[in-house]
Amino acid sequence: MFDHPMTVDGADVRTDRRDPVLDPATEQVIGHAPIADAEHLDQAVEAAARAFPAWAAAPPARREALTKAASAVESAADTIARVVAVETGKPQAESLWEVRSMAAFLRYNAALEAPRTVLKDDAEASVEVVHRPIGPIGAIIPWNAPVYVLGLKLGPALAAGCTVVVKPSPFTPLSALLVGVLLREALPPGVVNVINGGNDLGAAMTAHPGLRKITLTGSTATGKRVLAGAADQLKRITLELGGNDPAILLDDVDLDAQIEKIFWAAFRGTGQACVAIKRLYAPEALYDEVVARLAELADTVVVGPGTDPASRLGPLTTPAQLDLVARLVEDAVSSGARVVSGGARLDRPGYFYAPTILADARDGMRVVDEEQFGPVLPVVPYTSLEEVMRHVNVGDYGLGASVWTGDLATGAEVAARFESGLSWVNTHRATLGPQQPTHGWKHSGLGVEKGMWGYLSFTEIQVRYVARN
Ligand code: NAD
Repeated sequence: MFDHPMTVDGADVRTDRRDPVLDPATEQVIGHAPIADAEHLDQAVEAAARAFPAWAAAPPARREALTKAASAVESAADTIARVVAVETGKPQAESLWEVRSMAAFLRYNAALEAPRTVLKDDAEASVEVVHRPIGPIGAIIPWNAPVYVLGLKLGPALAAGCTVVVKPSPFTPLSALLVGVLLREALPPGVVNVINGGNDLGAAMTAHPGLRKITLTGSTATGKRVLAGAADQLKRITLELGGNDPAILLDDVDLDAQIEKIFWAAFRGTGQACVAIKRLYAPEALYDEVVARLAELADTVVVGPGTDPASRLGPLTTPAQLDLVARLVEDAVSSGARVVSGGARLDRPGYFYAPTILADARDGMRVVDEEQFGPVLPVVPYTSLEEVMRHVNVGDYGLGASVWTGDLATGAEVAARFESGLSWVNTHRATLGPQQPTHGWKHSGLGVEKGMWGYLSFTEIQVRYVARN
């Protein structure tokens, strides 16, 4: 049983209320997590505020501490990954990737330095623009990638000189609580505080006057609430929200080379990824073959608990997500879509849903227009690329999009027309690592995360004007 405390000011905090955390692959209780109240939040914010001046003032010490923090995460990688695997249900290898990514975010950002821009330097005046850390900030984390998202927020926030109050999702709090404990050996008290609670705690963080910025990864609905909640204090915010990424196959796509990549870009993480392919557009000429080949992959992929090394796909992480996926498939079928593979819950404990390929899907069906965030791929036939382009750009989301073709020049032309922050040719979800930014257009986000852009989002600029006469 996991029973990690919260971390406030470098010390354990235990609470009267502790909620059970379930393994989504078994529906069994795997541990308990403390639930913070308003007082715990105040204590965490105060600790972050106390730690801020010294942390902000000493870039070399920060660099050293963050490198130590990365090593602490790496040394405990298997332990943290096991917790991720049992609380999310995702395969151990993907859980390990999350942990290694967190270490990479800490290391990469530790080496960054904000630019100083000299606007004038003469007998009359010295005028330069510098970046200063924003202050204590709040980081609100979703359940689908609890350690990866924690890492991509902690790395730049800490490296830029901010101190942090973290709130994981109440569905997957155990890994963040464990990371909070592990980071104590590398970071001064109060620099990272991890408290746990539900949506109300996130709202209280957003409203808390002691936090100068909120960085949230979550659904678009939550992002809008955070935006509204932050307005009163003009709090800085970064929002990485939902997506409904399209992938468009062109007539000349090399299916032998690409079909497995397309399958995994849709299904990895059981489809519970912001940048998963969530709707696939296939030309009439290839349509039957595309559907048949995807169905074959869906029928043969090994689905099971993340802790079983044979599993390639795990369960949905929450029962609500399972219900949503089931409802969207039912809705699509009642509107004329055809289940070619899957289409039902698996007959076993846990929130398992069979990998599902839906043929004859159309724009206007909920499963095509909305984010399903599950192991379901609707395949939409098309005859005119122009018509597809209208559909892919028309919705509210603008996270990622891809085009698949044998002709890279045509691919680049199509990709340049996507209204999304990520635009891929012959790949989807591809990332170089911590240096590559993520930015959602429209309802997919506000602000930029990762890379130098993400680092700078934890700073304010200051113009330093010194008159010399
Ligand atoms: P969610 O919005 O339900 O919850 C995310 C976090 O916000 C949780 O910690 C939750 O407790 C907190 N929260 C909920 N209501 C709040 C409120 N009113 N004020 C402040 N905090 C609140 O999202 P989820 O279901 O945990 O995650 C899945 C969603 O996250 C999907 O939509 C997915 O696309 C999105 N996501 C986006 C990215 C990206 O980079 N764009 C990455 C991963 C996930």
